[in-house]
Amino acid sequence: MANPWDGAIGTDEYNKNLDRIKRIAESQGFILNPDDQRLKKVVGLMTMNFNEFGKYFCPCKQSHPLDPDKDVLCPCSGLKDEVTKDGHCFCKLFYSKPC
Ligand code: SF4
Repeated sequence: MANPWDGAIGTDEYNKNLDRIKRIAESQGFILNPDDQRLKKVVGLMTMNFNEFGKYFCPCKQSHPLDPDKDVLCPCSGLKDEVTKDGHCFCKLFYSKPC
């Protein structure tokens, strides 16, 4: 069965978001989730939020329905603490580098 985010994958906005996320990972010393399906899901859903609201709202921390006045943008303020504590952010998008 098709996933809701499948249509976003490979679009210009998806690729732009993925490039942005790669730059964030590089600048913070993180890597992206090596699980390609998880990566596509998180980046795809975030891109769908961007297409609808014009901002990169986190798809894992958002309200349902999304509340643009309250919900957080990616990267969120918890990113570093979450990676330090759990080895990855809440969405399992950014990971610490293996030792
Ligand atoms: S939990 Fe991860 S994907 Fe979600 S906003 Fe924070 S850094 Fe981005």
